[in-house]
Amino acid sequence: MADLAADFTKKHGYPVCLAIVQVGNNPSSESYVKNNIKLFEQVGLKTDYRKTEESITQAQLEAIIENINKDPHIAGILLQLPLPKHIDERQIASKIYPAKDVDGFNAVSAGNLYLGNDAFVPCTPAGVIELIKASRQPISGKNAVVLGRSNIVGKPMAMLLLKENATVTICHSKTQDLSKVCSKADILVAAIGKAEFVTKDFIKPGAMVLDVGINFTAEGKLVGDCKADEVSEIAGWISPVPGGSGPMTVTMLMYNTYNAAVKLAASKNK
Ligand code: NDP
Repeated sequence: MADLAADFTKKHGYPVCLAIVQVGNNPSSESYVKNNIKLFEQVGLKTDYRKTEESITQAQLEAIIENINKDPHIAGILLQLPLPKHIDERQIASKIYPAKDVDGFNAVSAGNLYLGNDAFVPCTPAGVIELIKASRQPISGKNAVVLGRSNIVGKPMAMLLLKENATVTICHSKTQDLSKVCSKADILVAAIGKAEFVTKDFIKPGAMVLDVGINFTAEGKLVGDCKADEVSEIAGWISPVPGGSGPMTVTMLMYNTYNAAVKLAASKNK
């Protein structure tokens, strides 16, 4: 990525830039954003960090997004969640130009993913698919179970697995016999945000397990959604927490931002 970023800057006279919009002082958002800024800088990608007061109005926040949309030197927009309750998240998301929606956040991007069109895909599931592909294990024809159905992880994850011809089951908090359903999975993606919830009873011997969860125990230890020690005894492969899906998410954000910058620059030259 560093080479691509340097070549882009040399060719166009400005760097690839991601705008990060954060509302308020949520501590997890703060540390996630600062980490992203540091990692972007390390590879020569620029960030434009716009942090606002918690009390910002819907109209003011929309004006910030409109302003970034029009900036020819900003390739992508990351709208950091959560937003305060008085802000209509979907309405704000709809204001992001699809061409700059590098986190695949708005309805146009989600619809394109659903239709199988070219679109920015939310970075976490996009990173998980890359992890699976890197393992060189086949996806086509496999039983895949996605644990979690959020718009940003579970649902797009299921769409990506479907696109790769897996037979996909989506589970959530109302799913009956959860461990039984999961134990049929050749590929299990755990994205529920419950520390060490997935035990060995959920795992088919030899399965590939992708742990997306980021949870902190009472002692402050970072753990995934899987009980890693016992799951890894049964699974054929498991992505670690920390170190698996987390770094892949930021990597995909870099690639999406770079690709958005290339497309934006090309459209200006038309
Ligand atoms: P959400 O809280 O938005 O969604 C959680 C999903 O899990 C919901 O669909 C919910 O079901 C389901 N769920 C919750 N409890 C259970 C349960 N006991 N049994 C079955 N299903 C359950 O979370 P996100 O999707 O945003 O994130 C999930 C996890 O991934 C979190 O730990 C988060 O921190 C992590 N994450 C990691 C990222 C990374 O970079 N690696 C990036 C983004 C998130 P229902 O819909 O019925 O409520």
